[in-house]
Formats: sequence, C-alpha cells, structure tokens
Amino acid sequence: MAEHTDGGRTAVVIGGGLAGMLAVTALCGHVDAITVVERDRYPAGQVFRKGVPQARHLHVLLSGGQRALDRLLPGTVDALTAAGARSLYLPRDLVTRTPTGWQRRFDDRRHPTLSVTRPVLDAVVRERALRAAAGSPTRVEVLEATEAVGLTGDARRVTGVKVRSRNGGGGGRPERALPADLVVDASGRGSRAPRWYAALGREAPQEESVDSGLAYATRMYRPGGPAAAPEIGVNIPGWPECPRGAVYVPVEDGNWLLTLSGVRGHHPPTDHAEFTAFSATVGDPYVHELLAGAEPVSPVHGFRDTRNRRRHFERPGAAPEGFLVLGDANCTFNPVYGQGMSVAALGALALRDTLADSGGLRPGTTARAQRAVARAAEPAWLAAVGADRPYTDGGDGRAGLGERLTTWYIGRLSARAAIDRVVGGAFRDVFCLTAPPSRLMAPRILLRTVLLPRRPGLPRPPAAVERA
Ligand SMILES: Cc1cc2nc3c(=O)[nH]c(=O)nc-3n(C[C@H](O)[C@H](O)[C@H](O)COP(=O)(O)OP(=O)(O)OC[C@H]3O[C@@H](n4cnc5c(N)ncnc54)[C@H](O)[C@@H]3O)c2cc1C
Repeated sequence: MAEHTDGGRTAVVIGGGLAGMLAVTALCGHVDAITVVERDRYPAGQVFRKGVPQARHLHVLLSGGQRALDRLLPGTVDALTAAGARSLYLPRDLVTRTPTGWQRRFDDRRHPTLSVTRPVLDAVVRERALRAAAGSPTRVEVLEATEAVGLTGDARRVTGVKVRSRNGGGGGRPERALPADLVVDASGRGSRAPRWYAALGREAPQEESVDSGLAYATRMYRPGGPAAAPEIGVNIPGWPECPRGAVYVPVEDGNWLLTLSGVRGHHPPTDHAEFTAFSATVGDPYVHELLAGAEPVSPVHGFRDTRNRRRHFERPGAAPEGFLVLGDANCTFNPVYGQGMSVAALGALALRDTLADSGGLRPGTTARAQRAVARAAEPAWLAAVGADRPYTDGGDGRAGLGERLTTWYIGRLSARAAIDRVVGGAFRDVFCLTAPPSRLMAPRILLRTVLLPRRPGLPRPPAAVERA
C-alpha cells in the first residue's frame, strides 16, 4: 500500500456527520492520520445545521444501535441521557396502535429506545469521537466548510479526494486534492459517489430502491394546560386501510416531537392548522386529543424523500481499492422504522472489526469491510422493504408467492406481537436490530403466530404496565 511523504497511512472521511464521526472512531489506531471533510461549519451550540436536513424530524436510536454505539465509543448512551435524551423501554414507555387495537404495555426491559433531537445526538457523538481520537495515536483534522467534489485515482484504485473550500469570497475557490490510502464516503443520502465513479471511468454500482411514497411533517410541542405531559410515547403507524401515521415522543428539555406521516395521496400538510387537523385522521384520535393542551414551539417541517435505497458497493468488483461507503451514502431506509442511525453505527462497528481481523489496512481490506458493512445493513433492509412492499407502486401484485406469504406472516405476527409477550419480544428483537430476522421463524414463534387465535388489541392506550 502506498505510503505518503510523511511516512504514514492516511484516510479521508467525506462527511463529518454521524457515520463520518463513527468512521473516525473505527479507523483510529489503524491509520496515522485522518482528515474529515465537512461541507458545513459546525454551529456553536447543539442546534440544527443545513447539512443534515432530516435533523428537524423525530429520531429514535434503537437498542441495536445503542449497543453498537457504546461498543465504538463506550459511555455514549449515558452521555446522551445526561444531555437530556429520554430512554423509553418498548413497549412499556412507547405504545403502538396496531390495526387490531392497542398494544399491551408489557414491562419488558430488553429494548430501551433513545429519543433525542438530532442536533444533540450529533453534537454528543462528535464531541466524544474527537475526544477519543485525541487520545489515540492517530492524528485527526476536521476541515469544516470544505466540500468533497470528486475522487482522484483511476477505475482500479482511489487515491484521494478533490475538495473545495466554502469559505467566503465565492469567485475562485480553487479545487485541491487530498491524497489518501483510504477514502470513506460518509456524505449521507445525497452522496455523489455514483457520479464520481463515472469520472474515474467506472460504472455506477447497482442500486435497489423501494419507495412507499411516504412523506413526513414534524412539529415540536411543550405539553401543558389541561392535558399534562402524557406518560408514554405513542406510535400510530399507518396501515394499508389507513395509510396515515403519527408518532409523539418526549425529547430533551421537556419538549415533545410529533411526526405525522402518510403515503402518496395522504401526505401530511405543513400548514399549521391543517397539520393539527391531519392528526385527527390517523388510525386513532389519541394523539389529536393530547395536542389540545400542548403548545407548539416550532414551525411544521416537511420531508419527502423517504425511499429505501441501497447501492451494492460490496458486490465483486463494484468498488475500487481504497474506497469504502458507510451510513446513508450506502443504504437509506424509510425512516418510520427508525433504523438509519443504528445501521450507521453497526456499519462502523463492522469496519472496525474487519480492520482488527485483517491486521489493519492491507490490500483487500476495504472490499472485506464493505461486505461486512452490507451484512450489517441487511436485517434492517429486509425488515423495511418487507413492511413497505404493500405500499409500493406495484403493491402486492408484483410480489411472488414467497414474498406474499412473508407479508401475510408478518401481518399476523405483528398483530399477535401486540398481545403476546413471547411473540412481541421476538418481534422487538428483530425490529430493534438485536437479532437476525430468522428469530421470527423460530418454532415457538411460528406456532404461536399461526395456531393461536387472532384476538384484538386493547381498545384504548393502556394506562397500566403489565409486570412479568
Ligand atoms: C425524516 C427522517 C427521519 C429519520 N428518523 C430516524 C430515526 O428515527 N432513527 C434512525 O435511526 N434514523 C432515522 N433517520 C435516518 C438518519 O437520519 C440517517 O440514517 C443518518 O443521519 C445517517 O447518518 P450519515 O452520517 O450517513 O448521514 P448524515 O447524518 O446525513 O450526515 C452526512 C454529512 O455529510 C456532509 N456532507 C454531505 N455532502 C458532503 C460533501 N460533498 N462534502 C463534505 N461533506 C458533505 C453533511 O453536511 C453531513 O454532515 C431518519 C431519516 C429521515 C430522512
């Protein structure tokens, strides 16, 4: 592997967001120097920045993602809690309304879900990642207000990144090249890697896309007035007969975030009055009732592109040596399943483990790491795409018998999960990314799902917790 003039191995990470910071953590100790190229200038406080437009919307970190995050940067989950993140056990503190009724509130403490605004989460992770890097033998430099505009190298090997400063002046802003032994693309859902490939004389990687046509609209509230803060978070996902949903969860500082969603033809409005009216049209009036006493403390923000999309950089020959893609740049998910950040963390962990197993950055390591990153994303992909299939353009019509059977089974299983402690536990293990999807086919789960009679869920959101 090429060495640079200072005699060390170097990496450039494109994007200083969540996946970028976790890539730094994974690479520390395996290269001598890392340069992070971030288009934005980080704000002084824990506030919104343009480079992460989805940050206005509700973000939860599943238990699988928390475990990965804490393995990469021990103590980060506690640090997030100290920064105000709310830890909600599923289903005790966050109940779901299914098509057949409300889920029972089992006191199952295996799956804490962290609910916090994105600016806080990103700032805490960034601060801890850079602090850990400062204590490692790897030198880390962050170039803020610097945009990656291309790659250097050829079809066989990437040798660096072309960057341009975004600091003042406009006009000239010359391009320059940052050489690197490894380039990690962590530039998020807007990654231009396929276009950069073309400039290197490569074909774009194969891409899969499954789009339910879902749109989001989100507003922050401060509960109060006649209706005090609700005791539990509420999730009313859409279902085919009522494809509109609402999620209402506490975040830091006593505020709550309400995200409304709907598939094509049911997009939630961003007009204030219409937003409130829309909340009454989801599958249950409970959230709308809660809003009566809540004071809005933000405008309504919309978001449209929520498709599941993955690019197969891991396929044989699909990536040049020295180039790796992580986080949303690699795979995006319909956000209603709350998986993207967890998958970014699981992918970074897979990178770190591959580097450790390979004895560092050697020829072939990036291809191995890219395969590990793809494997880490696979369970989330299967869950999201399976759940979205009924809403895609072709609906069930295009699905084969196997897929239709899976959709039928998952529908039955999720209805059972709402009322059955055992099936519910397995369902959460898989959807919280702590167990492989095969857990749902375990004999005990299969028998309970298929043989036990269908029973409705509860008629109202449960006030009482059901102890074991
Ligand atoms: C509406 C919505 C709601 C979501 N809710 C959840 C949820 O509840 N739970 C969950 O786990 N996930 C959720 N997600 C997914 C989550 O937002 C992403 O998975 C996560 O942000 C991925 O991190 P990332 O670092 O790959 O990308 P990002 O967080 O988007 O960061 C990309 C970074 O790259 C920088 N950048 C971009 N281009 C360049 C360039 N050319 N040069 C230099 N820098 C560049 C950007 O400024 C940014 O800092 C949601 C997504 C959406 C759209």
